[in-house]
Amino acid sequence: MSYLKVSEVSKRYDEQNVALEKFSLQVQRGGVVSMVGESGSGKSSLLRIIAGLEVQSAGVVHLGDQKILNPEQKLVPGYDEIQLIHQEYKLYPNSTVEENIARPLLLYDKDYQRERTEEILELLSLGDFRDKKPRQLSGGQQQKVAIGRALSIEPEVLLLDEPFSSLDVIQKRELIEELKVIFDSLEVTVIFVTHDVDDALLMSEELLIIQKGKLVQHGNVREIFWKPANEYVARLFGYLNPVPGKKGAYVRPSEVRLTAENGLKANVVKQQFLLHYNLLTVKLADSGALWKVDDPSRALEVGSEVFLDYQKEQLIQF
Ligand code: ADP
Ligand code: MG
Repeated sequence: MSYLKVSEVSKRYDEQNVALEKFSLQVQRGGVVSMVGESGSGKSSLLRIIAGLEVQSAGVVHLGDQKILNPEQKLVPGYDEIQLIHQEYKLYPNSTVEENIARPLLLYDKDYQRERTEEILELLSLGDFRDKKPRQLSGGQQQKVAIGRALSIEPEVLLLDEPFSSLDVIQKRELIEELKVIFDSLEVTVIFVTHDVDDALLMSEELLIIQKGKLVQHGNVREIFWKPANEYVARLFGYLNPVPGKKGAYVRPSEVRLTAENGLKANVVKQQFLLHYNLLTVKLADSGALWKVDDPSRALEVGSEVFLDYQKEQLIQF
């Protein structure tokens, strides 16, 4: 059963700026999915339309049986049920963490307000910071408070538009992993938008790939990694080595094994020390093509002769 349903949504700002073209998508209730696409591919426009904050040029969004009305159709744009968080999301600077989280609950019964605020502080491990002002928190903690505030009124859908782009890598990764556990434990349906595939995968194995305003692939990461719909999708996952003599066939650096005598003969022309392996650039003896391969043993030097082996099933073809 589909729950959040985007049907043939198009968005044209003007002649030059077409953000979405007949974009269709279905997400299950409680699903947590990551959306990846390069800058300008239409991600933010899509989320704003889903949230009812932007007028689409065509198409319709449904949440269950409810049709999402856009700002031309609804007096107060947006929905409590659908919360959108982005990088510039502002907390109230003069309110404490606790007050920020309680703010959307002001119209509710006092006991419920207190109870729900405590729940959120607990859920997001923000109890120790309850009396702090936003400026006293790290960027990551501030974004957590923003998410806590959005979750306080128990939304059905949470849309995250590259909310962690300003954080450093370690802070960001830890926060994503923590939030993933929280989102998986809640009923809430989440679309996490990012241009970084690693971040996307920390949140969810279910990926949506958007290219020039179109959904080009939707599925589990394993499927997309091995059977990318096109070259754009394949390249989002990293470097591709072209297989000599096989047009449209590629092998990823991580899938190439370095051997003493089996496979394509090559010479190491460059060696880079990276965190988990040495990245080698090698020149194939026959074709002269340059490949990138991983050397986890860190054994090979510039000038070394190697043989490159890979399995036919690991070829990527499109
Ligand atoms: P993303 O979030 O993936 O970077 P956006 O949805 O922000 O993509 O933008 C998609 C396209 O729509 C881009 O070409 C962008 O220039 C254009 N666009 C976005 N917002 C506006 C706007 N308010 N006015 C005109 N063009 C816009
Ligand atoms: Mg954007």
